[in-house]
Amino acid sequence: MTTQIYTMGYEGRKPAELLRVAEQLDATIVDIRLRATSAHPQWREGALRELLGDHYARCAQLGNTRYREPAGADGPRPIEIADFDAGAAYVLENSCPVILMCSCRQLTTCHRLSVVQLLWERHRVECRELDWDETGGAPKSVGIYWLEKWQDMQKMKASSGEEIS
Ligand SMILES: [Zn+2]
Repeated sequence: MTTQIYTMGYEGRKPAELLRVAEQLDATIVDIRLRATSAHPQWREGALRELLGDHYARCAQLGNTRYREPAGADGPRPIEIADFDAGAAYVLENSCPVILMCSCRQLTTCHRLSVVQLLWERHRVECRELDWDETGGAPKSVGIYWLEKWQDMQKMKASSGEEIS
């Protein structure tokens, strides 16, 4: 079972940065987009596979089947994980660290937050969002412990009558 799970969004990054962080952490980047395509060729599955080699894997089961639907006027983007249990089993059986990757820059509006939440609820596995340096390229550390943020968010939502689903 993998000992460490990180999350990241590649928006605003360069593919070479992904390779660097994967090598630094000796991690597998698991692409959890429902469709591993992009308007930008460098972010398509084939290109990533070629660049990252063994550091790349796909897990569409952890994709958001509703990713094409826009956010509601006053609500978040709808999220439905394709097949969480199958995806989680796949991720957790890795022996090396795993980086769950989507395109979205923001953790809070990305479906990876739902994945991380479910990993905690069902498996008591804690994940960390990669802490990229906003000013320059490489991740300055890999330590933002997002769970506290999520718990804070839950409290905020609870107090405003909303539910995270
Ligand atoms: Zn996303």
